[in-house]
Amino acid sequence: MPLIEHTANGLFCQAGDFYIDPWRSVDRAVVTHAHSDHARRGAHSYLVPIDGVGLLKHRLGDDIKVTGIPYRTGIEINGVKVSLHPAGHVLGSCMVRVEHRDEVWVVSGDYKAQHDKTCQPMEPVLCHVFITESTFGLPIYRWKPSHLIFEDIHRWWQSNREENRCSIIFGYSLGKSQRILAELQPLGPIGLHGAIASLIPAYEAAGVKFPAWEKVDTSNKEQVSRFKKGGMILAPPSANGTPWVGKWGDVATASASGWMTIRGPKRRANVDAGFVLSDHVDWTGIMETVQATGAQRIGITHGYVNTLVKYFHEKGVDAFALETRFQGDAAEE
Ligand SMILES: [Zn+2]
Ligand SMILES: [Zn+2]
Repeated sequence: MPLIEHTANGLFCQAGDFYIDPWRSVDRAVVTHAHSDHARRGAHSYLVPIDGVGLLKHRLGDDIKVTGIPYRTGIEINGVKVSLHPAGHVLGSCMVRVEHRDEVWVVSGDYKAQHDKTCQPMEPVLCHVFITESTFGLPIYRWKPSHLIFEDIHRWWQSNREENRCSIIFGYSLGKSQRILAELQPLGPIGLHGAIASLIPAYEAAGVKFPAWEKVDTSNKEQVSRFKKGGMILAPPSANGTPWVGKWGDVATASASGWMTIRGPKRRANVDAGFVLSDHVDWTGIMETVQATGAQRIGITHGYVNTLVKYFHEKGVDAFALETRFQGDAAEE
């Protein structure tokens, strides 16, 4: 019996009788982060890093029974040692280390190696078996250092501002938008769509610092006229192409996503600019992290599963596929 196995409810550790990112109602859930393909309602109890409690409650409801523990602190669940380690993906994201009878497995959830002001940096954890995501698990996905992307964003904002246009960046509302906000040097007013603004208190409760921002409201004429003259607004991808965008005048729009690598931005995403910015690990990051774990077996989930399994097999590495049911942030990311 493997220490962690795939079941109809998701990844299950029978020895400890708990699930990791379960898909259905279970007794005990360890959750890697608050994105919808990992955090589902219906578990009797949840275990997450302390930093992740606020976002989990925001997503699943204040009535859930959730325990937050510090990163790297081991606890025992039915005789199985469990500890949570920073995954660098979004605020409160973790890799789950499970140890039982001299065997160590690590389930990564989503993770990234790049710098992010809104969460703890990812720490590879030594293990025998490492389960990795593969959202961008192809060699074509290699991220530039993120400070270069943020410089591009500022240049773009500056040139739109000189033309008296409002800039709108569409990015995933949990994680991506807060990451961009934390890096913005205010050239003008910064506005947040309500879907993004509603998550800010959970970040501030965890100690994340942001520049001054305001929640935008198209019925506020004074605010609209200020933003029309060179403001910056962060909005979720679902707002793109809606009448809401037109309320901000002759705007310049952009999408911030790892998928901008392959999508001709204007053609595919209906935006003026594309910034390749992902909260997932790129090809190089997967390879380096896998190596850093020292794992002898690699489980692959979330993304280019079969391609990556084949790649590892050709390299003589023991790899296997793990099914996933939800592709929540992978699609929007
Ligand atoms: Zn995620
Ligand atoms: Zn995911």
